[in-house]
Order: sequence, then structure tokens, then C-alpha cells
Amino acid sequence: MTRVVLVGPPGAGKGTQAKALSAELGVPHISTGDLFRAHIANNTELGLQVKAIIDSGGLVPDEVTNEMVRVRLAEADAQGGFLLDGFPRNTGQADFLRAVLGADELNAVVEFKIDEDVVVGRMLGRGRADDNEGVIRHRLEVYRKETAPLLDYYAALLISIDAVGEVGEVTQRVLSALRGRA
Ligand code: ADP
Repeated sequence: MTRVVLVGPPGAGKGTQAKALSAELGVPHISTGDLFRAHIANNTELGLQVKAIIDSGGLVPDEVTNEMVRVRLAEADAQGGFLLDGFPRNTGQADFLRAVLGADELNAVVEFKIDEDVVVGRMLGRGRADDNEGVIRHRLEVYRKETAPLLDYYAALLISIDAVGEVGEVTQRVLSALRGRA
């Protein structure tokens, strides 16, 4: 069973890596950012509720995010494992995930290590609605304050990967670090 969480600052390449890793490991890639963006694109009630928050780089309230993740994890394709990207993003969400999984513990938490200056450059080239410099700086601050504490929270499960390098090279680093664990 492969139950893996990816953690790292915005722009670290989690989404790109998650797609490749999901194919290699045979488990679905579950990205809360992608799920929210799909809601926004489809003009759902949830999408309307979260759009302004996401555009400003803040975190969607835990009760909204947690419920969306609970529903997604209950779907058939996630019963054999999953790769979570962008969730949990704070310790409250991590407590929630622990409660949802119960005895089914995570196999590993992969940290994507990368300098902030590198990620700012990458994101400015990406052109997403929430990718202008002010919003990017804010998202990095939110990461430092809210998400980085997860590295201690998950200390026992943590695998840290250098996220700088060619896409395929980084994928191999993650796969070899996961070998025997997921
Ligand atoms: P990135 O990896 O570039 O930070 P994501 O696609 O993961 O971007 O997330 C985009 C935005 O969606 C976040 O800035 C935040 O507003 C919202 N979001 C995503 N995941 C969560 C979460 N777990 N909790 C709260 N908000 C979230």
C-alpha cells in the first residue's frame, strides 16, 4: 500500500513530480490545488466560495478543505493508496488526515527542498492567476508559517529530497528514497 504525502513550498515542482510518481507507483495523484481549480473552472458553489482566497494566496478554511479531501479519499481509486499533493498544509489538516486514515498509516512524507529565490523565478514563468510576485511572496510566507511545521510533525516519516535538477532526475531521487517504504 502506497500512502504518501508530498510537502514543499509553492513552485517546488510537487505537481509535476506527482504526475510521474503516480504513474510509477500506480496510485492516484490527489492535489487540493487542482481540485479547487476544477471547482472554480466549473463555477460550483465551492469554487465561488474559495476563488478570492486562492487568488490572494491565503489558505482555504480547514473545514472546507478537509471535507473535500475526505470525500476524495473515500472514492474507489484511492482505496489502494494515494499521493497527496498540497494536503495537509497545516497541523490541523494533518490531525484530520490522521483521524480519517485511522490505523492505515502514511508510508512516507516527501519534502521537496528548494531555495525561495528559485521558486519565485519558476512561478513567475508559470502564469497562473495566483502567480504574481506579491501573491507568490504571500504564499511563501504562508508556507513558512503554516506548512513548514509539518516537517517536525512528520519527522518520523520524513524523506527530504533536493528538488533542484531535471524533472526526471528528481523523480528518480524520490523513487529511490521511497523504495522499500511505499
Ligand atoms: P502551489 O503548489 O503552487 O502552492 P496549489 O495548487 O497546491 O499551489 O494550491 C493553490 C492554492 O489553493 C493555495 O495557495 C491555497 O489558496 C489553496 N489550497 C490548496 N491546498 C490547500 C489546503 N490544503 N488548505 C488550504 N488551502 C489550500
